[in-house]
Amino acid sequence: MLAINTNKLISESDVKCIPERVSSAIIDDTIVIGEIKQFFTADGWTAVQKIINIKKQHATWVCPVCSEDASTKSICCNRCLEWSHFVCVRVNKNLKSKQWFCDICKLAAK
Ligand SMILES: [Zn+2]
Ligand SMILES: [Zn+2]
Repeated sequence: MLAINTNKLISESDVKCIPERVSSAIIDDTIVIGEIKQFFTADGWTAVQKIINIKKQHATWVCPVCSEDASTKSICCNRCLEWSHFVCVRVNKNLKSKQWFCDICKLAAK
């Protein structure tokens, strides 16, 4: 689940970077949503609620490479926010860098 730094509230920009990590935890019925609200700024919480709505409409995130469910063992592109499996994009899952771009965005950036 999402790493919570109690010294700093989770802001909108943090939420955008980790939509899948946030939403899977939040739409889990076992989590009382009000209990985690305290960890977010007002903007961050608004972003979370948007993500929840999106998540409810699209039950799964699909890997653009293999078209399978990418809700696990996947990495989020920092530009298009698509989730791709580590294996499909040949990324080491221990990648330390927070910035990662899918092939499409890498090509677009050139
Ligand atoms: Zn895949
Ligand atoms: Zn991308």
